Amino acid sequence: MELIFMGPPGAGKGTQARAIIDKFGIPQISTGDIIRAAIRKETPLGREFKSYTDKGDLVPDELVVRMVEDRLGQDDCKPGFLLDGFPRTVPQAEALDGMLDRMCRDLEHVLLLDVDDSILIERITGRRSDPETGRVYHVKHNPPPPEVADRCIQRSDDTAEVLKNRLEEYHVKTAPVIPYYEKAGLLRRIDGQGTPDDIRVRIFEVLG
Ligand code: AMP
Repeated sequence: MELIFMGPPGAGKGTQARAIIDKFGIPQISTGDIIRAAIRKETPLGREFKSYTDKGDLVPDELVVRMVEDRLGQDDCKPGFLLDGFPRTVPQAEALDGMLDRMCRDLEHVLLLDVDDSILIERITGRRSDPETGRVYHVKHNPPPPEVADRCIQRSDDTAEVLKNRLEEYHVKTAPVIPYYEKAGLLRRIDGQGTPDDIRVRIFEVLG
């Protein structure tokens, strides 16, 4: 099963991706997670990534495309994959089409989680994650359990100021990817408002 998970920052992609990969036994390929891992390791590429993510700008297409192509070539992607946070521009979507052609694979669905900007801001600024498990919580709606609460952190790009630019990047550069997949007949819109359980039910109705 080859899936793309699209949606603005804070739409709940990371939380819902977990349920999908558990059910279908496919890896979640989150470009954001790969980028953050490189930043943590302080590799030369990681330092370059940081100069973009700190401001909420997208990383240049050629760097992300190369990273995804390497990752999709790994053995665990043979049964399928869930791409989370990629493609984020039309040139990335075109590059992905080329990669899939070379791999003789087809996309099954492009899931788009639709959420209003006003809700995203509240969700993102309250978001905290556990660096040991990667689990994501919300200070109000889904607080971390007491045994992990002390180690939970806020992503440096989850502040109101950086978020403003991330949302702008989404509306200007990522939104055009929606008609790209709509024309290809692959786009499945999912209402991303409501509780995580409500949203999960809607996603599984689409995936069958
Ligand atoms: P995310 O965790 O998906 O919100 O990604 C965090 C940051 O990583 C984004 O704000 C971008 O700076 C960068 N990033 C992640 N995925 C991509 C992508 N497909 N293209 C360009 N930049 C990306």
